[in-house]
Amino acid sequence: MTQHSDLLIVGAGILGLSHAYAAARRGLKVKVFERSATPLGASVRNFGQALVTGQPPGAMLDLARQSRAIWGHWAQVAGLQLKRNGAYLFARTEAEEHLLEAFCAERAQEHGYNVELLQGAAMRDLYGGQFRHHRAALHGRDDQQLYSREALPALIRYLREHLNVEFHFSTLVRDVEPGLLHSTAGSFRGEQIIVCCGHDYQTLLAEALAELHPSICRLQMLRARPALNLNLQHALLTGLSCVHYGAFADLPEAAAVQAQILREAPHLHEHGIHLLISPTPYGELIIGDSHDYGLDASPFNGEQVDNWMLELAEQTLGCGIQVVERWQGVYGARGPGPFSFVRAAPGVSAALMHTGVGMSVGPALGERNVAALWGEA
Ligand SMILES: Cc1cc2nc3c(=O)[nH]c(=O)nc-3n(C[C@H](O)[C@H](O)[C@H](O)COP(=O)(O)OP(=O)(O)OC[C@H]3O[C@@H](n4cnc5c(N)ncnc54)[C@H](O)[C@@H]3O)c2cc1C
Repeated sequence: MTQHSDLLIVGAGILGLSHAYAAARRGLKVKVFERSATPLGASVRNFGQALVTGQPPGAMLDLARQSRAIWGHWAQVAGLQLKRNGAYLFARTEAEEHLLEAFCAERAQEHGYNVELLQGAAMRDLYGGQFRHHRAALHGRDDQQLYSREALPALIRYLREHLNVEFHFSTLVRDVEPGLLHSTAGSFRGEQIIVCCGHDYQTLLAEALAELHPSICRLQMLRARPALNLNLQHALLTGLSCVHYGAFADLPEAAAVQAQILREAPHLHEHGIHLLISPTPYGELIIGDSHDYGLDASPFNGEQVDNWMLELAEQTLGCGIQVVERWQGVYGARGPGPFSFVRAAPGVSAALMHTGVGMSVGPALGERNVAALWGEA
């Protein structure tokens, strides 16, 4: 049994690290336990888009704005690369353009979204005309872009070296109980324990997590090299994302976008395909994604799904692309809300995402949950 800590955290994904940061910056003594030798979960398999624009007004928008500031701070102190130019969401059709116009005319103004709608000459001039085959582009100026597979290790280094967070990698946590955590590296005492286990609902607190009726979402992802040197500095989305993201999906104009997808490209709806493109720091692109919901993640990737995504990406970019890497990512989905903070027992809680925006809101969730546990107003 080792010496006492203030906070023990299970999981070194973005939620675990965000809670670790929130506690350590308050001067608390923190230990993090991760079963793999380096984080390999959703937090390194994603697009690294820290999106503010796509969030619905209310709690998610507030959390995304707060998270944006935290990412900005981490970029400075932890030396992680963060693109702060925003994202472009392209309207390919008249229905998509109407939806973006409606969003800018009302919701964006009412809730202070930091956006600009590029049309006409502004659209044609973007990236030297590379995207002129689109009708319009919504520039979400607050959206940020990271390279997650490098950002998480950089954040871990910072937490370890500057905030004295102790990490135990290659360590499975087998059980937690009030004040005690039992792992393959022994047992540890802590005033508070927070389980940030991603979509593993069975190893720890299984009964409490089962009450949330969570499921998972499995996504196919690609890294690719464009045939042209685009020097892309913005994350890219298309109108397809508007029927998924809460900022747009409930606007009356979204119905026409959805109807057009069902009429003209039902396979995109069937496989939950909506195109996201993230530039890496090395001139490559992360491209996805598809959405396959269930209780478990099928290991079998559909080649046709990759082909549809590649076709969409080539249409959007206006150039050919060559795939250099393929993988699948899984995130927790469809719980009672976009996220949960479960108080399972005195001093034992779980922080979980139930939708695919943990990079966008996770940093602020860590702040919120740690403040609540330590009785701050
Ligand atoms: C393909 C894909 C694309 C995405 N794109 C975006 C995006 O662009 N923007 C965005 O905001 N969000 C995105 N998301 C969602 C986002 O990545 C997730 O919401 C977020 O990473 C969840 O973080 P987490 O810490 O809860 O889970 P994870 O990152 O999965 O971390 C959980 C960790 O806990 C560890 N663990 C679990 N149980 C134990 C145990 N018993 N003992 C020890 N360790 C344990 C696991 O090994 C794992 O490392 C995407 C997700 C995916 C899969």
